[in-house]
Amino acid sequence: MRIAIIGTGTAGVSILRELVKNKNFSKMHIDAYDSTKNIGQGIPFQNDSEQLLINLPAEQMSLNLDNKREFFNWYEHQSTFKYKHPEYLPRFLFGHYMKSFIQKYNEQFENIHLIEQQVQEVFIEAGIGQTNVIYNVCTSEEIGKCKKYDVVFLTIGTMSYHDPYQLKGKKGYIHTPYPTYNTLDEVDETERIAVVGTGLASLDVIRYVVSHHPNLPITMTSRKGQLPSVRGEMPEVHFEHLTPVQLNQLKKEHFGNAPLEKVIKLFLKDCARYDLPIKQLIERRVGNPIDDLTYDLNHPIELGKLQSLLENAKENLNWIWNSLSRKDQKRFLSEYSWVLKDNSNPMPPETARLLVDYIQSGQIEIKSGLENIEYDDKQFHFEFKDQQETKQQFDVVINATGSKTQLADLDEDDQLIINMENRQVIQAHPLGGIQILAETNQVISPRYGTLDNMYAIGQLTNGINQSRNGVTMIVKQAVNVVKHLTKNN
Ligand SMILES: Cc1cc2nc3c(=O)[nH]c(=O)nc-3n(C[C@H](O)[C@H](O)[C@H](O)COP(=O)(O)OP(=O)(O)OC[C@H]3O[C@@H](n4cnc5c(N)ncnc54)[C@H](O)[C@@H]3O)c2cc1C
Repeated sequence: MRIAIIGTGTAGVSILRELVKNKNFSKMHIDAYDSTKNIGQGIPFQNDSEQLLINLPAEQMSLNLDNKREFFNWYEHQSTFKYKHPEYLPRFLFGHYMKSFIQKYNEQFENIHLIEQQVQEVFIEAGIGQTNVIYNVCTSEEIGKCKKYDVVFLTIGTMSYHDPYQLKGKKGYIHTPYPTYNTLDEVDETERIAVVGTGLASLDVIRYVVSHHPNLPITMTSRKGQLPSVRGEMPEVHFEHLTPVQLNQLKKEHFGNAPLEKVIKLFLKDCARYDLPIKQLIERRVGNPIDDLTYDLNHPIELGKLQSLLENAKENLNWIWNSLSRKDQKRFLSEYSWVLKDNSNPMPPETARLLVDYIQSGQIEIKSGLENIEYDDKQFHFEFKDQQETKQQFDVVINATGSKTQLADLDEDDQLIINMENRQVIQAHPLGGIQILAETNQVISPRYGTLDNMYAIGQLTNGINQSRNGVTMIVKQAVNVVKHLTKNN
């Protein structure tokens, strides 16, 4: 069986780990594609500043679902990188841990080949009138050099960054903040810097930029100006009300869908079992970053419970989300998803304390109400809503607005996806990413229907896998996908 893995970050490495364990492994010929820079590490865990931390305790993040401490044990057994407080370790270290598997397999097994090139095209070969397909994977425009496969794993990670104010290419505009230690390469000490976006990526930038640009304050800005929450003490939780059995019953009674109101009610019943003042917690923000961060730092128990319950909801979101009608999915996105967004992927408490210090000392300023940015060949003019000082000028703008979710927004930075859509291998999901079968991650082509042996995992599937992009959720999908492949072939 000829297998291509396109992209070797968390999803690609996890697929490889599962294939190596598979009883049919010796009959497989596996090619894993990625750039030399990212191979085995992916984007979030690439080599970067050690100030960028994994957002959960190191002992809780692992590629092994049966051993949560696998990464931490790996850390303890290596001697190159040692930290005084290893509770939250740098992200690049997780990348080295991931890469250690791919390197070991590459040395150990002759049927695994690492191809250090980006894939440009994937197209389907099927004779007219035939339904069996062969996948072609190409790293150049020369069709003769494309390789043929029976199975393709599309594990290419996130789409490129948003460019909400159309500034890409302007002098002084840094379109993507990673790796942060290159972000300031061209920036002068006296230049005024603004970071656009106040989510997790902006915190990465701030952690690095503040310590390397000490002479001028940095402005962080977005429409809401709201920072992520702070990680509390997250207990293990489980649902007794929001369960597949209950949702199957609801689906029987409501034309095949579980109504959103009833799903929320079940979730609230589970929250009540943990004695959670949910309304108070989700409405806790007052809009002042210091007060909001301090509140979170001072309420680790309540907040931890909320975060655990939301995380559990996210981990189960495949069957919850895909039980809703399209109308309810849209309603969830407009009315409820902010609760998930505001309280999941929390920052480590250490980062929160650092931010409080930076804000108090005036090293960073957080401004909400960003409405527009214009460039006049010299500097960037920021317009704010309802602020006394409605316009402000900056020399350098670092984009931390996050990645695109819709195929319709893509440009040449996502050429592989654009090409695959054009070749009718993939199609857009109306709520984001591409169409896949929720249960199996099989890609649904507009021309060939559900593709037996092409699977996609990661942010590219965000319309189906709403908010399910953390390491554990990706690994779970990889395990299921390889099980499905084995059963299917
Ligand atoms: C900044 C950031 C920090 C995060 N921190 C955490 C965290 O602390 N904990 C957590 O659980 N989750 C975190 N996440 C979520 C994270 O997205 C997932 O945990 C996970 O790393 C995603 O894995 P992936 O394999 O889908 O993507 P990636 O790990 O990015 O891997 C995708 C790979 O595909 C390659 N690729 C792309 N296009 C091509 C192509 N055309 N040809 C060949 N290769 C290609 C890329 O080079 C890359 O190596 C973070 C996300 C981001 C963006």
